[in-house]
Amino acid sequence: RGGVAEPVIPFSQPDNLTRVYAVASGKGGVGKSTVTANLAAAMAADGLKVGVLDADVYGFSIPRMLGVEHPPTKVDDMILPPVAGDVKVISIGMFTQPGRPVVWRGPMLHRALQQFLADVFWGDLDVLLLDLPPGTGDIAISVAQLLPNAELLVVTTPQLAAAEVAERAGSMAQATSQKVVGVIENMSWLEQSDGSRLEIFGAGGGQRVADELGKTLETDVPLLGQIPLEVSLREGGDSGQPSVRTATDSPAADVLRDIARTL
Ligand code: ADP
Repeated sequence: RGGVAEPVIPFSQPDNLTRVYAVASGKGGVGKSTVTANLAAAMAADGLKVGVLDADVYGFSIPRMLGVEHPPTKVDDMILPPVAGDVKVISIGMFTQPGRPVVWRGPMLHRALQQFLADVFWGDLDVLLLDLPPGTGDIAISVAQLLPNAELLVVTTPQLAAAEVAERAGSMAQATSQKVVGVIENMSWLEQSDGSRLEIFGAGGGQRVADELGKTLETDVPLLGQIPLEVSLREGGDSGQPSVRTATDSPAADVLRDIARTL
């Protein structure tokens, strides 16, 4: 056909041993990037070789959350990803001009993703986590095409309106024949000083997404955990020190560490 040869993506080769998780959400602001960054840091703390590909064109929050201090470097035709707290990180934000809004169409995003998978020197990874843009857009299809072995993690809040859109994002997996590993509910409650739980965003969203996806996909989709609202989790993200690395008195960090170990 005279086309250019498709670049080789090591993660999609038959002998590849890297587990690939794509973290998805129905809408922005539910904590998808916070969850991705903390799962990556928790896995690295457990001794796994971890990479994160930040494909969230609207967010780019992963480098800050993981405390990335240097831009990627280039050696020959390969891009060397910066390493932050033992996690290799590449973000679409590292290749855009600061302060400029990103208006990328599907094909550009597909090409960028392809390049980050083929031209970045990831080395031998145990786990690659992808932070996807929110929604059910083209990127989900690109991920399915480029990484047929990628498994989806769906993040939602307990709010029913959020759960509905998360279900739609998750049911994309049916069209693309991808596996949904499970659902993570974030911002589940705020613990009050008397120990009671204030359910700021309501209750039940995570379980509902898990149940509905299970029905749609005709398989068991578990609710992997419920992460409470915590000031320290937000602070950890702002300062580039993910809570799971250091926090001792943090139920949110405990839940995230537990989820990391079940994956
Ligand atoms: P998304 O990637 O879904 O857009 P983010 O991970 O950027 O969402 O989170 C949105 C905001 O909410 C961030 O400021 C983050 O620090 C904060 N946040 C996320 N989860 C929690 C939580 N469990 N407790 C407190 N703040 C949180």
